[in-house]
Amino acid sequence: MNKKTISDVEPEWLRGRTVVVRSDLNVPLASGEVANDQRIKASLPSLVLLREAGARIVLLSHLGRPSGMVQPESSLAPVGHRLGELLGCPVHLIRHPEPGDRQVPFEEIPTEDVILLENTRFLQGEKENDGALANSWAELGVLFVNDAFGTAHRAHASTAGLANAMIARGHEAVAGLLMARELRFLEESLRMPERPFIAIIGGAKISSKIGVISSLLPRVDRLLIGGAMANTFFRALGLDTGSSLVEEGCVDLARSLLEEGGERLVLPMDCVVASELSEHAETREVARTAVTGEDKILDIGPKSRRSFADMIARSRSIVWNGPMGVFEIDAFAEGTVEVARAVAEACDRGSLGVLGGGDSASAAERAGVSERLTHISTGGGASLELLAGVPLPGVDALTNRG
Ligand code: ADP
Ligand code: MG
Repeated sequence: MNKKTISDVEPEWLRGRTVVVRSDLNVPLASGEVANDQRIKASLPSLVLLREAGARIVLLSHLGRPSGMVQPESSLAPVGHRLGELLGCPVHLIRHPEPGDRQVPFEEIPTEDVILLENTRFLQGEKENDGALANSWAELGVLFVNDAFGTAHRAHASTAGLANAMIARGHEAVAGLLMARELRFLEESLRMPERPFIAIIGGAKISSKIGVISSLLPRVDRLLIGGAMANTFFRALGLDTGSSLVEEGCVDLARSLLEEGGERLVLPMDCVVASELSEHAETREVARTAVTGEDKILDIGPKSRRSFADMIARSRSIVWNGPMGVFEIDAFAEGTVEVARAVAEACDRGSLGVLGGGDSASAAERAGVSERLTHISTGGGASLELLAGVPLPGVDALTNRG
C-alpha cells in the first residue's frame, strides 16, 4: 500500500502526543446497550498500540443515522461504556467542541484515559464534509489515525475531511491497524492472487453488486453465483423462475455478463424451492429447469452445493460475498453453510479466503467457521467498492508513503 500506516510512526514519538482516531464503532444497540461488540473489538488493536506508546487518544465515530442533529438514542454512551470494559480504562464521553470553542478541559483528563467525542453524525457538517468542522477536529491533535474502514467509501468530515485538514496543518494522516489489514486482504492480496482464484457472489440483488461482478469477472478463474441474484441470471437463460425474487430491470445485464463470462460464470444447476418463505414451508429440491408457478427459489440445491464445494476445494484464493440462500431460516441455510465450510476447509489447507458483507459475516458465524477464514471484512459497502476497484476517499486522503 502506498499510504502510511500507524506502524510507520515511531512509538517514542507518540509518547505524550495527542492522536485523533476515527474508528467505526457503529454497532447495533438493543435497549440502550451494545447488542454486538464485534466492531468495537475490531477497533481495539490501534487503540491498544497508541495507549501502550503513551499517546493521548481523542476518538471519533458515528453511530446510526441521526443526520445532523442530536438524537439521544444514537448517543455513543453505551459504546464508550463497552469500550472502557474492553480496554480496561476510563472512557470519557464528551459533547463536540463547537468550532472555536476551547472550553473542553482535555488537560484535566489523564493521558492514558480515552476521550470519546459524541456521535459525529449529530453535527450538520459531518456528511457534507464541512471543512471548518474537519479543522476543528484536526486542531485537537498532531496525528490523525483513520481506522474506520466501514465508512472509508464516504468522504465525510471525520474521515477524508479530517485527513486533509490534518495534512494541511503540517501533520500526518495514517491508516490504523484494522484499516491496513482490510486493505491488505481485500486489495493487495487480490491484485496478484495465487491461482486458481475463485469468487462466490450471492445475496439478494444483482444491482447492488454489479460493480463487483464486472470487476472480478475478468480477473477470476471462476465466478460462482448463488442467492436470489442467480434467479435473474436464470431468467436471462430463458428459464421459468416461478414466484422467485427477480430483478426484471437487470435481466439484460445478466445476459451480457453470461456472454462475457462464458465458462467462468457458474450458476447453480438445482435449487431448493418452497411456496412460502417460512420455517415450516414444505420444501422441494428441483433442477433449475423444473421451477414453475408458486415456487420460490430460496437456496441452491444439493448438486450445486457439491460442485461449488469442489471448485472451492481446488482454489488457492477465494473471495466470498453474499449468502447462497435465505440462510436466516434453517430450511434454506444448507447451501450457505456448505459453502462456508468449504471455504473454511480451503483456508485450513493454506488457501486465502476473504469474506465481505454483513449478512455473509453472520452466515459464517452461524456456520461456526468465522475463526478459520483468513479475513472477514468489517465493512460491507466499503469492501464491495474496494473489490469493484473503486477508490475509497477515506484511504485516498491519507499521507502517501515515501
Ligand atoms: P451481504 O450483506 O453479505 O452483502 P446481501 O445483503 O447482499 O448480503 O444479501 C443477504 C440477503 O439475501 C439475506 O438476507 C438473504 O436472506 C437474502 N437472500 C439470499 N438468497 C435469497 C433468495 N434466493 N431469495 C430471497 N432472498 C435471498
Ligand atoms: Mg446485507
